[in-house]
Amino acid sequence: MDRTQDWGQDRDEFRLHGVVDGHSDPTGHPDHLQEQARAMLATAVAEARAGLAEGGIPIGAALYAPDGTLLGRGHNRRVQDDDPSLHAETAAFRAAGRQRSYRGTTMVTTLSPCWYCSGLVRQFGISRVVIGEARTFHGGHDWLARHGVRIVLLDDPECAAMMRDFIGARPALWSEDIGGE
Ligand SMILES: [Zn+2]
Repeated sequence: MDRTQDWGQDRDEFRLHGVVDGHSDPTGHPDHLQEQARAMLATAVAEARAGLAEGGIPIGAALYAPDGTLLGRGHNRRVQDDDPSLHAETAAFRAAGRQRSYRGTTMVTTLSPCWYCSGLVRQFGISRVVIGEARTFHGGHDWLARHGVRIVLLDDPECAAMMRDFIGARPALWSEDIGGE
C-alpha cells in the first residue's frame, strides 16, 4: 500500500486547477509519478493497437490496483463484437472481474473517457484516471476532476496520431462510436 500513500502525498500537485497537463508539467511532478503513468499508458496503447489490427477502433485501457498490479486490460470492441457498449474502459473493467473496492485504483486510457465511461469511473469510485490524450476527443475528464477523481493528462503524441489517422481513415465509424448522426 506504500504507493497509494505516495500518490496521496502528491495529491495537491496533481490537482492543480482540477485537471493536470502532465506534458507541460506546470508544477514539476515527481519523476516516478510520470514514469508510472507512462508505463500504465503503454499497456493501454498496446491494447489500442491490438484493436486496430483487428479492424476495430483503436482505443485501449487498463485498470491497475493501488499497488500497481494490473487488474484488467482491454480495447474497444464495437466492431469486433458488434457491441457498442464495449468501450476500452468497460472492457478493462470487466476483465478485472469483481473487486471488493476500487479505492486507490487507476484507470488508464488512450483517449479522454466518454460520458458513459466517466460514469463508470464515478459509479465504482475509481480514484484516478490517466489519459493518453484529449485533443481528438474531449470527454468527461473535467467533470471527473470536479468530483474529486484525480486526472493525469499525458498529452501523448503517439496516442493523438493514432486517433487522427483512424478518424481520417474511417470517419463514419468514428462518428458512430461517439454518437454522431
Ligand atoms: Zn467510453
